[in-house]
Amino acid sequence: MFSLVIPVYNEECLIQELVSRSVKALESFTKNYEILFINDGSTDDTLEKLLEARKQFPRVKIIDLSRNFGHQAAFTAGIEAALGNYVAMMDGDLQDPPELLAEMYQKIREEGFDIVSGKRKGRKGKRLRFATNLFHAFFKKVSGLEDMENSGNFSILNRAAVNAMLQMKETIRYLPGMRSFIGFKQGYVEYVREDRLEGEPKMTLSKLIVLGADAIFSFSKFPIKVCLFLGTIGTIVFFVAGIYALVAKFFGFAIFGWSSTVLSIYFLGSIQLIFLGVVGEYVYRIYKESQNRPIYLVKKFYDAETE
Ligand code: UDP
Ligand code: MG
Repeated sequence: MFSLVIPVYNEECLIQELVSRSVKALESFTKNYEILFINDGSTDDTLEKLLEARKQFPRVKIIDLSRNFGHQAAFTAGIEAALGNYVAMMDGDLQDPPELLAEMYQKIREEGFDIVSGKRKGRKGKRLRFATNLFHAFFKKVSGLEDMENSGNFSILNRAAVNAMLQMKETIRYLPGMRSFIGFKQGYVEYVREDRLEGEPKMTLSKLIVLGADAIFSFSKFPIKVCLFLGTIGTIVFFVAGIYALVAKFFGFAIFGWSSTVLSIYFLGSIQLIFLGVVGEYVYRIYKESQNRPIYLVKKFYDAETE
């Protein structure tokens, strides 16, 4: 069985095309598949469109979440429910072409990989391209995780890799990082990322920034290193300045002005605030993880038997 997991949030305009293209793409290489749509608390007619599509294509299943939990949580809901011995993750806006799944499936089966992901060769949409590339390069450097560059959620995992992912129960989730973290034999298929077919991006800039911060805080010590580095520089500077102040006082050749005092207070104060912010961020994360809340909640699961 092959499972295709697709999160959707307010995508009513493109459900029809999404379903028909996905079904067609899957049927080109297997007859035994399921498509799991996760409705991530859409406020438009996404659910109705999905229910309609399910009448025509009985292999479509729908996990209707109780509210919007974010697309990493939605993907998680999908891979937890997936029954396949291969599980694919794909965005629901047709930026990841379903037609590529055939090539990815062939690669994972014939070349002995456990995970095959789509590697973006460039994208048509200009939106945040520079920022995204920069983020991936930076993340690869600070996390020490291999081959993260330019691969997002679009991927196929075999059962062993999926089970490894399912063992990672953390609440704050960055799936591409987790996928890289688990190891296994990972391969890539290159593709050009299309423009989204319809509508506005559902990952707003603020959601993307939160996702980037989640990635960096949960897979690297970079923020702490910045603190330590700045703290060290600050200490050295003030040590040298302190000696100078003492020497100047001793020889009595300087009247120390107001400005240097105020500037150093500002400087030290701001460094301390930054450090407190970073420490606070880690404390928040420890708090979040220790709460151990569910990552998502299901309102209704429409599988093959559901009326
Ligand atoms: N999505 C979701 N929940 C959200 C935001 C987005 O399920 O809170 C879905 C969205 O419907 C789409 C996929 O996640 O299928 C990727 O979203 P989008 O295209 O907006 O992200 P981008 O391409 O900008 O990364
Ligand atoms: Mg998109």
